Amino acid sequence: MRDGAFVKKIWLSSPTMHGEEQKWVDEAIRTNWVSTVGENINEVERLVSEKVGRKYAVALSSGTSALHLAIKLAGERLYGQPKVGHGTLEGKRVFCSDVTFDATVNPVAYEGGEAVYIDTEYETWNMDPVALERAFDLYPEVRLIVVAHLYGTPGKIDELRAIARAHHALIVEDAAESFGASYKGIQTGCFGDYGVLSFNGNKIITGSSGGILLCDEQEDANKARKWSTQSREDAAWYQHEELGYNYRMSNIIAGVVRGQMPYLEEHIAQKRAIYKRYQEGFRDLPVTMNPYEYENAEPNFWLSCMLIHPDAMCRQVRGEQKAIYISEAGKSCPTEILEKLADYNAEGRPIWKPMHMQPIYRVNAFITRSGNGRARSNAYIRETGFCDIGADIFARGLCLPSDNKMTEEEQDRIIRLICECFE
Ligand SMILES: *Cc1c(COP(=O)(O)O)cnc(C)c1O
Repeated sequence: MRDGAFVKKIWLSSPTMHGEEQKWVDEAIRTNWVSTVGENINEVERLVSEKVGRKYAVALSSGTSALHLAIKLAGERLYGQPKVGHGTLEGKRVFCSDVTFDATVNPVAYEGGEAVYIDTEYETWNMDPVALERAFDLYPEVRLIVVAHLYGTPGKIDELRAIARAHHALIVEDAAESFGASYKGIQTGCFGDYGVLSFNGNKIITGSSGGILLCDEQEDANKARKWSTQSREDAAWYQHEELGYNYRMSNIIAGVVRGQMPYLEEHIAQKRAIYKRYQEGFRDLPVTMNPYEYENAEPNFWLSCMLIHPDAMCRQVRGEQKAIYISEAGKSCPTEILEKLADYNAEGRPIWKPMHMQPIYRVNAFITRSGNGRARSNAYIRETGFCDIGADIFARGLCLPSDNKMTEEEQDRIIRLICECFE
């Protein structure tokens, strides 16, 4: 660690506890509801359903398990119940967000489906409706779309929903990063046929882990509850008619979430202030921030990110594990900035690497505005420096330290460090 480094590490986004969490955890232990049933779970489901404005909220062990059950519910509704040992999406293509955390899309593979990645747009950094429409030209049989709201900024919801409706497709909405964000006054998590939230340790509020499945049909909520508790039938003994999972939220974890719920809006206000200070601090730099001013979207500002102007990028090359760059006066790149932040004990992160660039998904189709994103000519790539919008944002962007316990002085120093990278 270098001289002048932050004594206390500045995190990207770490848990912020308030005290009430302890009360509900203690209450669970005192009353011996140390299990996957109990009052904290019931309260979390009630509070979340009320906050989001959705009829049913099912508390699960993680956002990933909630996504799995959401995608399985959609798969069953579309294609019927598969034989045991087979997924609901076997042999089916599913349109998926490309720039997202892999938890959004892995459950498509759990269910035997094949993700087709849809390129990103610059206005919200989410799924591009133009590319989605093109994907339906190429694969008109597709009936399921899995879409995420990156870094807490709602995507182009009206456009995406209109396309889904026109093609009779269902939407699974991954609002893991956008809890509390809204679009035209309605909370994210309400726009998909199924919605998902996460209480992972780095999210806007946390339970250490945990997730929520949101839906409007009692039958779906009941099914998810049953699947999540090993698909036990209503019998005196363990009776099973279908495949089950151990996905229910723990009542201890639910105690933490319950204690965090009253602080969601406070966290959003703190994250908004952090975003605005970065925006102001970078006003003389050749950079922009992650976008949010699309229509009447109110993001939750979970992570502040920056995007370097193409002319201000020094040379940077990324392999599968490592990155190198060549320092240049007046220019910088995400690798240089991230190294500098790490030197000073502050945590930034590259933009989530697009799914179509991940080795695990290298054979999956990838659709851009102009067609098949994998069929770009080398000349095009040489000329533009990138082959698609997701790859471009990944190359030029980075996530900034966005912890709500960061002081203004600490943030000012981070801003100064970044400004120095462009000197
Ligand atoms: C965190 C996250 C998830 C997964 O949630 P877990 O609770 O960690 O399983 C899913 N999708 C996105 C976009 C996320 O950021």
